[in-house]
Amino acid sequence: PQNKLIAGNWKMNGNLAANEALVRAVAAGMGEARCEVAVCVPAPYLAQVNALRAGTRLELGAQDVSQHAQGAYTGEVCAAMLREFGVRYAIVGHSERRQYHGETDALVAEKVKAALAGGVTPIVCVGETLAEREAGQTQDVVKRQLAAVIHVNGHCISEIVVAYEPMWAIGTGRTATPEQAQEVHALLRAQLKAATGHAERVHILYGGSMNAGNAAQLLAQPDIDGGLVGGASLKAADFLQIIAAV
Ligand code: 13P
Repeated sequence: PQNKLIAGNWKMNGNLAANEALVRAVAAGMGEARCEVAVCVPAPYLAQVNALRAGTRLELGAQDVSQHAQGAYTGEVCAAMLREFGVRYAIVGHSERRQYHGETDALVAEKVKAALAGGVTPIVCVGETLAEREAGQTQDVVKRQLAAVIHVNGHCISEIVVAYEPMWAIGTGRTATPEQAQEVHALLRAQLKAATGHAERVHILYGGSMNAGNAAQLLAQPDIDGGLVGGASLKAADFLQIIAAV
């Protein structure tokens, strides 16, 4: 891709007052950022953050999307609803949803399809557990997870964003080394290329304890096209330092 993408994932954090201060500070501080910047916020705050970002370059994302287009699905939010609030991205298949909400590869693929059909770019998360890494299964796991969404028929899968988030690095302060991350990113790029031919255009983000101290080295790797940032996206100063590291 031409530009890198730094996306914040607020997870289930925030409130009206804190969101306003954070978004104003990020929008003011990102200035002429050399990259694209997005924040993925809890659904109830999409309208608030969409209004706050008006007139800025900050893009808006959701943290999930329904696999259905509309109907009797209590509690779910579909892509068309997200679009009405200026949402460009939706995180799909985050490991926390796979772990705590039973999301399978098949469901993640359905959600990717629904997002694309509704005009929302899915940020598809893949990544191994610590046990899988130690058992030498990292490549098999991420290949399987990416293959599930590549084979969604009828949509241009080169329009997705991929995020490699090793589960042992999420919220632990233990980041993958730039070499560990690059190795997996290169594999994912090769898999996308074999399947679509347009792999150069696809952003492959790294996520997992990315912070102001490690971002520059990670982002310098040839196949790391940006970051999906959890904890460090909740403080404007930290998030802006990551943006500045691009
Ligand atoms: P942390 O940056 O808090 O480790 O979270 C990463 C993540 O899960 C982003 O989606």
